[in-house]
Amino acid sequence: AQRIVIKIGTSSLIYPNGNINLAGIDQLAFVLTDLKNRGKEVVLVSSGAIGVGMNKLHLNERPATIPAQQAVAAVGQAELMNIYNQRFLTYSQQTAQVLLTRDIVEFPESRKNVVNTLEQLLEMGIIPIINENDTVAIDELDHQTKFGDNDQLSAIVTQLVQGDLLVMLSDIDGFYSGNPAKNKNAILFHAIHEITPEIWDFAGDKGSKYGTGGMISKLNAAQRILATESAMVLANGQQPQVIFDILAGKQIGTLFC
Ligand code: ADP
Repeated sequence: AQRIVIKIGTSSLIYPNGNINLAGIDQLAFVLTDLKNRGKEVVLVSSGAIGVGMNKLHLNERPATIPAQQAVAAVGQAELMNIYNQRFLTYSQQTAQVLLTRDIVEFPESRKNVVNTLEQLLEMGIIPIINENDTVAIDELDHQTKFGDNDQLSAIVTQLVQGDLLVMLSDIDGFYSGNPAKNKNAILFHAIHEITPEIWDFAGDKGSKYGTGGMISKLNAAQRILATESAMVLANGQQPQVIFDILAGKQIGTLFC
């Protein structure tokens, strides 16, 4: 079976006004369930715990301290899983929460346990929903950290399960020759086979208010994928149906392979 890892960013889950994009989450549940029922193996890596926590606790500002962010993330993670469970169940699809830390890469024993769990879930037809364990690790919360966030985690997960494709859904149509928010002349790359110094330069600008990664972190993930047999597509997650088009081989977003 073709194995697909989907990573959805905060910017696709939370509207700029702080509301949760329930329509988008519902569509995602519909698409992923359909793929699974057509014989694909599907893993979801989802950000959004902080954003959902802020929404639930009626906070307008992102908490200032790391412990406060961890507390809000703990509230939000439970609520996010609540929402996913509910939406997936309308399509009779079971999900599971898997919280990971990046050190699974360093400890063979932990890595083996993670792989075993994921393989078992897939065999049972369950869609694992993965996030970083924000209580244990603060990579995803820490804006200063360049090499740790769910973009990296999704690439690591793709390696662990030997996924065929990582679909990274963001709030942008793909990778451009500059931040389109600031540079109207930036052009979209359809395919990138090697991340050259010039490509790194194009990614210089950090991301949105609610997201954490920005393009640097997406390129780091892509670099990890390029070192394997897998491929990665960076695409706009506004309409999760786009995943159908990507799998149908249409030219969508930026393909890293
Ligand atoms: P997510 O929350 O989905 O992980 P981010 O907000 O971290 O997304 O990153 C996406 C943002 O990165 C885009 O909305 C865009 O403003 C910014 N960006 C900076 N440089 C680029 C580039 N070269 N190509 C595309 N987007 C870029």
